[in-house]
Amino acid sequence: MTTTSRRYEPGDLIYESKPYIRVIQRDLWETSCSWCLKQDVELKRCSRCKMVRYCGVTCQKAAWKDHKLECPFLPRYTAGPDHFFVQMLASLILKTKVMTPLKNFQLKRKPWFSNYLKVTEIALKSYLGEENVPNEETLLQLIGKVECNYYSFGEGKSNIWALSIG
Ligand SMILES: [Zn+2]
Ligand SMILES: [Zn+2]
Repeated sequence: MTTTSRRYEPGDLIYESKPYIRVIQRDLWETSCSWCLKQDVELKRCSRCKMVRYCGVTCQKAAWKDHKLECPFLPRYTAGPDHFFVQMLASLILKTKVMTPLKNFQLKRKPWFSNYLKVTEIALKSYLGEENVPNEETLLQLIGKVECNYYSFGEGKSNIWALSIG
C-alpha cells in the first residue's frame, strides 16, 4: 500500500506501471499500433505473424518481449464470443511458462462453471494447440486470476480497446 501527504487533483497521475499482460481488441489490430495504440499513422505489420501492426521500430522492439510468446500462435487465432478473455488466458499461459507461477488460491466450483470451462478450453486448444493448454486444475487457477485481476481500457463498457492484468 502507498500513502502520501500530497494533495491530488482529479486527473493527476499518481502511479504508473507496465501491465503484466495486455491484450488488444481484435478489431484494432489492423488500425492501431499494438504497443502504443496510436491510430491514423502509417503502421507496419509484424513480419512473422502478419497479424499485429506497429507505428515504428521503437514500439515493435518494446512489444517484442511479450509479443514473441504469442507471435507463433496468432495466425491461428479466431475471434470467438469470449475472444478477449481467451486471448488473455492464452497470454497468461504462455507467460507463466517462462515466469514463476503466481500463488495459487482456494477455488469453489459453481455448477454453471463446468460448461464455461469446457468452452474456454476448446477455444484455447484451437488457438494454442492441445500441448500448450494446462490441465483443468491449473486452468481453473488461471481463470480465477484473470477474473479477479483484469481491468479494461477504452470508452465505456461497449467499446473496450484493451484488457490488462497487473
Ligand atoms: Zn506505437
Ligand atoms: Zn508477430
